[in-house]
Amino acid sequence: MAHYLIIGNGAAGLSAAEAIRRRDKSGRITIVSKEPYPLYSRPGIAYLVLGRVSEQQLITRPLTFYQEHDIDLHFGAVTRLDIQAQTAWLDNGDVLSYDVCLLATGSSAVRPRLPGIDLDGVVTFDTLDDAKTVIAKGRRAKAAVVVGGGITAMELAEGFRHQRTTTHLLLRRDRIWPRLFDEHESAIIERQIRHEGIKLHYRTEIAEILGAKGKVKGVLLKDGSTIKCQAVGIAIGVRPNLQLVKESGIKLDRGVIVNDFMQSSHPTLFAAGDVAQVYDRWTKGHQLDVLWPSAINEGRTAGHNMVDVAMGRPPDQPYRKGSPFNAAMLFGVHLSVIGRVGSGMAEEEEQSMYYLSRGSSFVWTMPLTGNHHSAWDSHGLTSVRIAIVDGRIIGALLLGNQSLADPLRQLIENEVPLGETESNLLAADTDLPDAIMEFWRRWRRRTPLSNRRARA
Ligand SMILES: Cc1cc2nc3c(=O)[nH]c(=O)nc-3n(C[C@H](O)[C@H](O)[C@H](O)COP(=O)(O)OP(=O)(O)OC[C@H]3O[C@@H](n4cnc5c(N)ncnc54)[C@H](O)[C@@H]3O)c2cc1C
Repeated sequence: MAHYLIIGNGAAGLSAAEAIRRRDKSGRITIVSKEPYPLYSRPGIAYLVLGRVSEQQLITRPLTFYQEHDIDLHFGAVTRLDIQAQTAWLDNGDVLSYDVCLLATGSSAVRPRLPGIDLDGVVTFDTLDDAKTVIAKGRRAKAAVVVGGGITAMELAEGFRHQRTTTHLLLRRDRIWPRLFDEHESAIIERQIRHEGIKLHYRTEIAEILGAKGKVKGVLLKDGSTIKCQAVGIAIGVRPNLQLVKESGIKLDRGVIVNDFMQSSHPTLFAAGDVAQVYDRWTKGHQLDVLWPSAINEGRTAGHNMVDVAMGRPPDQPYRKGSPFNAAMLFGVHLSVIGRVGSGMAEEEEQSMYYLSRGSSFVWTMPLTGNHHSAWDSHGLTSVRIAIVDGRIIGALLLGNQSLADPLRQLIENEVPLGETESNLLAADTDLPDAIMEFWRRWRRRTPLSNRRARA
């Protein structure tokens, strides 16, 4: 009987376990989970701190699910992995040998080396327990400071504000999320942030977190000024959890480089989710996708192929990475980002770009190459921006009205040639949303379902 070991009980780990059980009814499946919960929606913790969902509603698989599918869920941490010996050591002293292993350890918030970073009151936003801490600290704090400009920083700021805390959001640059948003899109979100009563500080960097008796009492900024606060939220980016394989000799970059079958450079070790770097057909390189649907799809493929390897067969199901997609709600404004939308950054900043915000993909901000154009349109809180490369829409960013989200996803995923429509989309007097909708309807009419890509 084969033994499948899965390290991490997130979207990737659990999807892999389900895929294994579908193909191997009797194999032994062990999931080791550092967090003491069954699978819960990690993106959902942003809604928990806003009081929109309960903890119970976040649980997507109850504990009984694991029993029913004969999956051994072990709460604890893997502290050492020897991939040559196919053995894992757990923090309670247990030693597990396996036939095939999946590394699905996710990613964690980067904690900068700042004086005061370990004070009580400094929070990051990775887990359900972090969300509970944000609620508890936010309720007690008179003021909170959030550092960072990506989605998670905004969600943290919104979370603190919801607890009626005076909230400051510190931005390094002169607008919000310049890696992704253009100036107009940043302005829409900033207007909403102010409307929520959150104080925005531009071109501001933190020098030190000030404390007394082990607790946060303020922050010292690089310009010498201070802000009094009792909580500090840090959301400057995330990093894949690679500690277990750092010295293993497998091929690593920012994450674990996997082949089309989600297999690392060692045949009995697979990787999926935030920790894996998968081939991306648009950028022709291996990229990180810190996204929930990507973790599910990668986990499923890994699980399927792990069964083949355990049975001594070559893996047979390749993973086809789709265009990265995220839908989120920021300060009451719906946001969708699809495919590659290009970067508004100066070149030197692109080179120093390393960390990725939660719920995002490296692909989004890769510079556009080839024959490229952008078109955009905006009314009030709604805006549409598309990126066109070599006659095809390769990315889109929608704020507000989301009726174009599905059509654009399908056009991008299917790499539909625009033909003469390209010049129409780029013309200054075109109603861009109408023109995209019309083009999509025509494409749908002439393209049978069987010829459209599965994800679309
Ligand atoms: C606040 C927030 C908002 C987000 N919003 C979005 C969104 O809007 N859209 C979107 O697509 N994605 C979003 N994401 C990202 C998404 O949640 C992740 O991409 C997804 O959860 C990755 O799944 P995973 O299985 O790879 O890793 P995870 O879900 O992180 O699971 C990994 C698990 O492995 C455990 N682990 C790590 N090391 C060990 C060890 N040594 N031993 C045992 N267990 C270990 C970890 O504790 C963790 O429980 C958000 C994430 C956060 C935190």
